[in-house]
Amino acid sequence: MTPNTSAIEHAAPEPQSLAANPIISVRDLVHRYQNRTALGGISFDVRPAELFGLLGPNGSGKTTLFRILSTLMAPSAGTAVIAGLNVVRDPAELRRHIGVVFQAQSVDPKLTAYENLWHQGHLYGLHGPALKARIEEILTRVGLLDRAQDRVESFSGGMQRRVELAKGLLHHPEVLLLDEPTTGLDPGARRDLWQYLRVLRDQEHVSVIVTTHLMEEAERCDRLAILNEGKLVALGTPEELTREIGGDVILLEARDPEALAEQIRTRFHVDATVMDANVRLEIENGHRFIPDVVEAFPGEIHALSVRKPTLEDVFIHRTGHRFWNEEPADEKKSKKKKKH
Ligand code: ADP
Repeated sequence: MTPNTSAIEHAAPEPQSLAANPIISVRDLVHRYQNRTALGGISFDVRPAELFGLLGPNGSGKTTLFRILSTLMAPSAGTAVIAGLNVVRDPAELRRHIGVVFQAQSVDPKLTAYENLWHQGHLYGLHGPALKARIEEILTRVGLLDRAQDRVESFSGGMQRRVELAKGLLHHPEVLLLDEPTTGLDPGARRDLWQYLRVLRDQEHVSVIVTTHLMEEAERCDRLAILNEGKLVALGTPEELTREIGGDVILLEARDPEALAEQIRTRFHVDATVMDANVRLEIENGHRFIPDVVEAFPGEIHALSVRKPTLEDVFIHRTGHRFWNEEPADEKKSKKKKKH
């Protein structure tokens, strides 16, 4: 398959997102570390009260973008504006409008949930009864009010992450930035966290930006920017992006996949590629194509599958290669565990 070289043009922000007073506006953002380009000129908008995902494999530039948006680092070129404030020109004022949850733990495990939030409140100039009321409100929001007086070290991983979330939200930010927020959480805690993010969006109208390398999380976002090697390769709702492939994805297991792919290309004039020792095709009405291809090459095909496209297929379609060049770290770990 030929990579879609017009991916960047396709990924340009759609007109309606420019018209709708974006809460975040990123234009031609570039970042270089010495001679390595981590962000190669990306542009997108985030709308108010949107759950927006930054999806990309390791090394695609997510952390770099996150650090620029959270004012930790200035870009080499381009602009990023949040709530009308420029990340380079107005970082101090901008920080009052954003809440940031980093991957690394920032709560003090020896303090109670309440104490952690009390100290955080002081950093933002909140005091006394107003701060107490806000802490109770936010702990209620993340479902931890009954554990307010317990030390954070006694909490599960998911509960600790919710304290981080409460900390990021204490000063009523309009935008919450979260860097891979579910790393290390079990599936139940992951689901809970996403549930809280949706509540924030729907009830508090907070715009939530989440970086992730997990497809199943990206599918839960209202819209997504997909990054690859510092470039924006796709932008849209998960449905729009998968619909764009316009058909089905067929995988064929064959004795000689390279030869079969070549034969299919010649005979049917479709774009057949070999990926992970399978022949892969994107085709309209896949179920109708299956009998034809099986009949055309008797005994060649050992197994086959036909399915609707996923976000990984969008990534392959736009870049010409898999999302994971190797197995994701999480999967590797769980496989290792199973062996023992
Ligand atoms: P991601 O978060 O998607 O894994 P990063 O933003 O961390 O991506 O990295 C993007 C690219 O920039 C990678 O090629 C990475 O090696 C490089 N990079 C990241 N941080 C640094 C740094 N401090 N110095 C030099 N190169 C870096």
